[in-house]
Amino acid sequence: MSQIFDRVALIGLGLIAGSMSRAIRGAGLAGEVVGSDISPEVRAEAAEIDLVDRVCDTAAEAGEGADLVALAVPVGAMGQVAQEIGPHLSPGATLSDVGSVKRDVIAAVTPHLPEGVHFVPAHPLAGTEHSGPRAGFAELFVNRYTLLVPVEGSDRAAVDRLGDLWRGMGANIDEIEPERHDLVLAVPSHAPHLLAYTMVGVADDLSRVTNSEVIKYSASGFRDFTRIAASDPVMWRDVFLSNKEATLEILGRFTEELFALQHAIRGGDGPKLESYFTRTRAIRRGIIEAGQDTHEPNFGRSAVASFGAEDEAAE
Ligand code: NAP
Repeated sequence: MSQIFDRVALIGLGLIAGSMSRAIRGAGLAGEVVGSDISPEVRAEAAEIDLVDRVCDTAAEAGEGADLVALAVPVGAMGQVAQEIGPHLSPGATLSDVGSVKRDVIAAVTPHLPEGVHFVPAHPLAGTEHSGPRAGFAELFVNRYTLLVPVEGSDRAAVDRLGDLWRGMGANIDEIEPERHDLVLAVPSHAPHLLAYTMVGVADDLSRVTNSEVIKYSASGFRDFTRIAASDPVMWRDVFLSNKEATLEILGRFTEELFALQHAIRGGDGPKLESYFTRTRAIRRGIIEAGQDTHEPNFGRSAVASFGAEDEAAE
């Protein structure tokens, strides 16, 4: 793969930036990758594991001379970082972000854009429940979608160049409008995270009553909830505060459906339950056919791997 940018600056050296750096450097997509983080401990750790070619003390220093700057900080910090680096960006440079919410980020960043800098928001639909500089890996984006979210007046060449970078990291690319992004992502990502946080919270309350039998006997369903509910608390706090409207809209619909199923259970309406579950099973098949998950039982985890993971968790 050929070089697409001379210098990429990554601000916020966590899971996403760490994965980007590994993928970009691994495929030779940039001449140099520099990075910065607000936390001195994270900067030291990033330097220790050679996460980027150069760790800078400040975001402004990292942004200077870069032809692509990608903001990979929690959504609520995007505006402040944009303000900090704005005056240091070179004319012709592209500023992007990887935030999980788009409308609020665009509103927070746009006022700090200097003349001649192209703003192209993006969102890689890939992640794990882990965070920090050691959490990333080069293959995170392979075969996953990255959504490019051009804003009014976004430069076409800058959008295409950023798309080439993400393609070089293995991602599939689609373009979407900011409002649509926030509504659509509330369904597969934002609302399910809130449900997982709630379900694990309920089980925790219950386990106090049942002397941890809930945890002891947790099988795959609950275990999968706990994985999602282990996601970064700051990141998800910001997502819900930033995508309030769409998340509440989807949760409203969810509550209505939940009441309908509750009613069916109370009334012994087997056909209703069965037809509902048949419909949802077909959706799972569609996701597998689209190549976005495996049809292997237990998400492809082997019994041995699961056993090992539980051992690790128990340490
Ligand atoms: P992460 O692993 O927690 O990394 C974020 C890093 O940014 C942390 O090291 C944090 O430092 C640092 N930071 C916070 N405020 C900063 C500031 N003002 N200036 C510089 N650095 C700052 O988070 P992540 O999972 O990579 O998420 C980063 C972004 O990607 C978020 O906007 C998120 O919405 C988006 N995203 C995440 C996923 C996912 O599944 N994780 C998927 C797609 C998109 P401290 O820890 O010291 O605060």
